[in-house]
Amino acid sequence: MNSNFQEQNRIKILPEYIANQIAAGEVVQRPESVVKELVENSLDAGADTIAVVIHNGGKKLVHIVDNGCGMGKEDLLLSIRRHATSKIITAEDLEEIKTYGFRGEALASIAAVSQLEIRSKTSNSDLGWKLLAEPNKEPTIEPISMDVGTQIFVKHLFYNVPARKKFLKSDLTEFRYISDTLLKIALRRNDVRFVFYDEDSLVFDVHKSTTEERIKVLLGDLIYDSILKVDFEYQGVKIWGYIGQPHLAKTSRGGQYLYLNGRSIKSRALTYAVFLAYEHLLEKQTSPFFFLNIELDPKMFDVNVHPQKQEVKFEDDKFIFNLINNAVNKTLTENNLAPSIAVSSSLEPFRKVEIREEGQPQSVQLVNRMTGEVIDEKFQFGSKIEHHNRFNSDFRGKLNYLPPQKGGNASDYSSLFLKRTFNEDTELKSWKNILQVHNKYIIVEKNDGMLLVDQHAAHERILYEKAAKSLETNTANSQQTLFPLVIQFNPVEFAAIKEIRSEFEKIGFRFEIHSNGEVEIFAVPSDIVNREEENIIREIVSMYVETSKVNQSARRDNLLASYSCKAAIKTGQKLTNEEMESLLLELFNCSIPYACPHGRPVLIELTLEELDKNFCRIL
Ligand code: ADP
Ligand code: MG
Repeated sequence: MNSNFQEQNRIKILPEYIANQIAAGEVVQRPESVVKELVENSLDAGADTIAVVIHNGGKKLVHIVDNGCGMGKEDLLLSIRRHATSKIITAEDLEEIKTYGFRGEALASIAAVSQLEIRSKTSNSDLGWKLLAEPNKEPTIEPISMDVGTQIFVKHLFYNVPARKKFLKSDLTEFRYISDTLLKIALRRNDVRFVFYDEDSLVFDVHKSTTEERIKVLLGDLIYDSILKVDFEYQGVKIWGYIGQPHLAKTSRGGQYLYLNGRSIKSRALTYAVFLAYEHLLEKQTSPFFFLNIELDPKMFDVNVHPQKQEVKFEDDKFIFNLINNAVNKTLTENNLAPSIAVSSSLEPFRKVEIREEGQPQSVQLVNRMTGEVIDEKFQFGSKIEHHNRFNSDFRGKLNYLPPQKGGNASDYSSLFLKRTFNEDTELKSWKNILQVHNKYIIVEKNDGMLLVDQHAAHERILYEKAAKSLETNTANSQQTLFPLVIQFNPVEFAAIKEIRSEFEKIGFRFEIHSNGEVEIFAVPSDIVNREEENIIREIVSMYVETSKVNQSARRDNLLASYSCKAAIKTGQKLTNEEMESLLLELFNCSIPYACPHGRPVLIELTLEELDKNFCRIL
């Protein structure tokens, strides 16, 4: 072997500035990360006033001023060294993090990729110190006179790492990242005054106030006027905050704020837990507003899973999931917003049925009492059903319109829908008047009574069955989009869409996947009439991302359910008579017209006989 080669390949310890630059990549992604780290440092330093000024979306300058405890000379010099932190000392401390910072990486990382200036003064000394640090240079320090606290200037971020710099977005986009982050922090830390300037224009100046006032000032009256208080405690875990009334729900996922012991966190699972509690109250494509806090013994979770400290690992994530779900549910119930269907029977809409088959382990399945439809217990909707049972004993179907209940086992239930009360040929001809009420329900007058149909649920059922058939037989009808539709996905979604591409195609989507996170759609299933192709695709993808972790095996059902729910005509949509007729026709061509894919009822039948009985015309 060439001795030169051997020389070159000897292991060396990297110089600290290179190591820092590598590490910086994980902590500092963009100006927003600088702002987040520095503001968190100010909070950790006990500041109760923090000012942030940015120039060019923070690319040119991030300037932070706080009135916290400040640093003395020695600490200031240490602060920019990697793994220098005042916040933890022992490994045990790591189990019990109470500060925002603890990794001792932020200042070192920032110093490795910018021109950094820190001025700081403690209350113990008359003078402050000014430290200048630049990548690959010895820092300089000199005395300076100033007030107690810390001022930091981060100039020309990534000036020495062109590849990273190129990756930054426009000033406006970078500004948005920063204001988003500051908003999250300011919402939670109502005990601190925050002042935020974009160059010389004031973005906000929020004084100490109550959380509610913070919400009002930062998020506006619209939200403030429609929030409900959440206050829930269980086994030492506290869930508090505010959730929005259903009408605040938005199509985008903005307006969702989640904190763990004061730290803003991201969690698809917990976001989903909130969503589940609202499930029946929202149009499927919308997400509820929430500002929720979890206060938990720091021993019960770990924030040290990612350098940016936004992801958390809980010791028992199911437990936290259920707590959030229950807390939201309780608030909705107390405000009479919990999902409920007219009460007239004491029967639960779902029933657990034990299945025993020769040689098979015994299993339990959920069966819709009205339809006999078997709903997979492990399927996500199982958990929904459980929480209804627990928290809303009023959740009852109106059940007296279907064949009488029989006792016990699954096959009895499934036979219910085989013996449908309808006979299409004669039934359809017997329709007299059709009327849409509240742009939500369809009333059909029949020879022997009337039908009440939920238009959204009905269409959902139709689309579900059609798409399920297409998946099996690969016979979907597609229609070309007028213009190719380009959708940009984030990396997680992008990976997901690749995974479920073939299912998408089987139900009638045609698209091209580009390498940059873009998906170009050429054709969509011809059943999509509501021009919401993009929303539909996004919903399917995000449902897939959210639930695939929970239950991979339910992938097909999830896909079908989110597709049909999103593509279906909405509650609130005015329908013409022809539209209603064809909807009803298609509905009665379904194999299970009685329930939507979520197991909720699609139609209620009232016979004349029943009506007469109710009005005491007959006995
Ligand atoms: P970490 O926050 O993880 O400890 P940082 O690199 O962010 O690491 O900061 C290093 C140390 O510098 C902190 O532990 C703290 O002692 C000190 N420090 C940073 N910013 C401030 C500030 N604004 N006021 C007082 N001390 C600070
Ligand atoms: Mg820090």
